[in-house]
Amino acid sequence: MRTDGMNDEDFTEAAYGRLLAAAARRFEIRTVTDALTQGAAGEAGGIAAWRHDVDLSPQRARALAGIEAAQGVRSTFFVLLSGPFYNPLEEGVTGLFQEIQAMGHEIGLHFDAAAGGGDPVGRLRAEAEMLSCAMGSRIRTFSLHNPSVSAPEEFTQPHVGGLMNATAESLRAPFVYASDSNGFWRFRSMHEVVADESVRSLYALTHPEWWTPEPMSPAERVRRCVQGRAAAVVDDYVNLIARHRPEVLHHVR
Ligand SMILES: [Zn+2]
Repeated sequence: MRTDGMNDEDFTEAAYGRLLAAAARRFEIRTVTDALTQGAAGEAGGIAAWRHDVDLSPQRARALAGIEAAQGVRSTFFVLLSGPFYNPLEEGVTGLFQEIQAMGHEIGLHFDAAAGGGDPVGRLRAEAEMLSCAMGSRIRTFSLHNPSVSAPEEFTQPHVGGLMNATAESLRAPFVYASDSNGFWRFRSMHEVVADESVRSLYALTHPEWWTPEPMSPAERVRRCVQGRAAAVVDDYVNLIARHRPEVLHHVR
């Protein structure tokens, strides 16, 4: 096994299924809101908060949500409104997150405090409201995108703008933290942390785009997301022209 954290075989869907099953044997896996509410009360033993920050790929999020649902696990998927990789208000993408919600998972807001201008707390509230409308359910929690780069002081509080702050140190403190970082293991792998008997409670963060059907390098996994979306956008455009302006179709193919 490589020791630099670059074990691409660790990041397949099959490996994810095994990781989840191993975690479910040791922990009661909960949505972030449920786990942090209980964790804050000091009763976190045997509990895992299971969080996904969807930075790049709603399709990968849907795949992991399905693996979890098949194992009877519910978790929280944090949706980014201000990212360059997907648009959660786009019909097909909203549909993917609604499917995830219909499986029993929680939807939260993934918030970039540095994006856009103006008052970040006001923008947090506005984005939560917009996502609530798209999902048809109230968004109760958010996580920060790039917290070390972008977080103003007020975003260290456990509650901001009426939402639970899943990134807040004070809420995460009772849990051992494990993350898939940028598609490799920065410290210990999540597989190792889940197997460690001394870990009594766990806060697991994954980014769904890092988990693919087959082993790929981190760079290939990013290209897979970007190129998959680019091809789908072109297909949508061509199909639109084919339906409404078939006489000019040869210009756009
Ligand atoms: Zn992020």
